[in-house]
Amino acid sequence: MLNRFKKPFLGLFLCLLGGVGFAQSGRFQQSVNYEMEVFMDVETNQYEGKQKLVYSNNSPDTLYRVFYHLYYNAFQPGSMMDVRSRTIADPDRRVGDRIANLSPEEIGYLHVSNLTLNGKPAHAIEVGTVLEVHLPEPILPNSQAVLELDFNGQVPIQIRRSGRDSAEGVRYSMSQWYPKMANYDEQGWHANPYIGREFYGIWGDFDVKITIDKSYTIGGTGYLQNPNQIGHGYEDEGVTVPEPQGNTLTWHFKAPMVHDFMWGADPKYKHDKVVMDNGITVHHFFIPGEKTSENWEKLKEYTPKAIAYMSEHFGQYPYKQFSVVQGGDGGMEYAMSTLVTGERSLPSLVGVMVHELAHSWYHGVLATNESLYPWMDEGFTSYATNLTMGAIFPRREGNVHQGSYRGYISLALSGLEEPMSTHSDHYHTNRAYGSAAYSKGAVFMEQLGYVIGADVRDRGLLRYFNTWKFKHPNVNDLIRIMEKESGIELDWYKEYFVYTTKTIDYAIKEVKANGDKTELTLQRIGLMPMPLDVVITYKDGSQEMIYLPLVIMRGEKAEEAGAPKRIHTEDWPWVNLEKTLVIDRNLETIQFIEIDPSKRMADVQPENNKVEF
Ligand SMILES: [Zn+2]
Repeated sequence: MLNRFKKPFLGLFLCLLGGVGFAQSGRFQQSVNYEMEVFMDVETNQYEGKQKLVYSNNSPDTLYRVFYHLYYNAFQPGSMMDVRSRTIADPDRRVGDRIANLSPEEIGYLHVSNLTLNGKPAHAIEVGTVLEVHLPEPILPNSQAVLELDFNGQVPIQIRRSGRDSAEGVRYSMSQWYPKMANYDEQGWHANPYIGREFYGIWGDFDVKITIDKSYTIGGTGYLQNPNQIGHGYEDEGVTVPEPQGNTLTWHFKAPMVHDFMWGADPKYKHDKVVMDNGITVHHFFIPGEKTSENWEKLKEYTPKAIAYMSEHFGQYPYKQFSVVQGGDGGMEYAMSTLVTGERSLPSLVGVMVHELAHSWYHGVLATNESLYPWMDEGFTSYATNLTMGAIFPRREGNVHQGSYRGYISLALSGLEEPMSTHSDHYHTNRAYGSAAYSKGAVFMEQLGYVIGADVRDRGLLRYFNTWKFKHPNVNDLIRIMEKESGIELDWYKEYFVYTTKTIDYAIKEVKANGDKTELTLQRIGLMPMPLDVVITYKDGSQEMIYLPLVIMRGEKAEEAGAPKRIHTEDWPWVNLEKTLVIDRNLETIQFIEIDPSKRMADVQPENNKVEF
């Protein structure tokens, strides 16, 4: 199932031709199965556990080394995350110099011991947040290996994403908490140190047993296997849960086909369960209080609505569970779940839930390498959030994507913009990363609807999900789907909008009477070419459109529903900076002429797009 990219027959053929390079450029996916047992000491905030990892090397390569992420080691004075957080021009206020000031009881750590491969001891070197493992024997192509290890950790004070004792009093937000195998794909290893942002995991099944003080309620990734022994709101209706023997409970979760495992735990959590008509169970976990109870009660209505809306528009949610867990430092997405801070107004609480839920599609199921393509996760998630909020929480008038356009255009004009192809940790400023990943990424998708037509883009987005779910698509995969759906070439759109910071600026240069006709001259000022919808509004209120696709599109978008009738279609070769057109109507009859009144084209100087008479 996971291995659809392998074409053994073709591979053999190429090898016979000596085409090793070709064979190696093929796509493949590694796979993992984790079995973990962890014991959490709620007095010391330290935990220890065992991990058995069955690793399938589906690559054509022999692996002599493997790498694990040890994310909690980031929360130590002098770590790469600490230094970067203090020295970046615009620090994240949640981090700043807080890591530098942690005491030994407050730091985080995660250490590994007794690491073996197929029972043979392996030599491992801990380098900050990455464990480099020299294998006692190589893992051959198309083979499985069993890696076993012990781990012990300390949960850091809540600073970034995970940690203990958050500002809202949540005891444990357990994300990035276990030794996690780094991904290896056609671009090689992705053993990035944990500096700030974004993740890339390997698909697999997780079997996790957590032993913790019996007063704690746990919510997060995975289906609880022993609900009637555990209780805490998980038990089936009418079941009497037996009194636990001793002071702890062992929670057993299974999570199939995920690439991460998160859990939140607190003795004060209120746990609510809502079963949707389609069988998906939605869990909410929050600490009741003045600042939470009322809005979290209302949130229970919105989460199922959002799941239903997104399943219809962006692809069917594939799991049987979603858990909204109070914790963390804002909002963060995980497999089948999210950690969100809880003391929020209702619009803010619903907004953050919807955003993190939308990640289930782009981070969770498509699971693009977020470090390399953060905009394909955060941007498309923001795009889906805008639409979902507009549908289930109608508060604002007008264009739901307006905020994303504002964010992108303000970045483009700031001089701080970097191409969206930048690795997320390597953006020079937090602002450049944030506005590119979230805002420009959302604009990419809404503007694509302008280029190929909104309906076509919508169909393409569903096709993208259904074609690439559980396969880590990259930007080319997305563009190819949209090309196939539209019949329009889009390589130029990717190259300009993703790989460069060139901007769009078109203008109406001149409109003049020419007998009983009108002469219109348009101008391209910005360096990025785009197709143009030019709408003429007449004094009688009627409208007509002139459509100017680019020659390099090798096609045209179909007339969009609700758009003014097209009176003229003509290619505009991008090398020409100006284009003059003749309108068969007297200038006297025209009220105004406007480039893209839908405002989906991200023109950075919209002031010169409209002329009124
Ligand atoms: Zn996000």
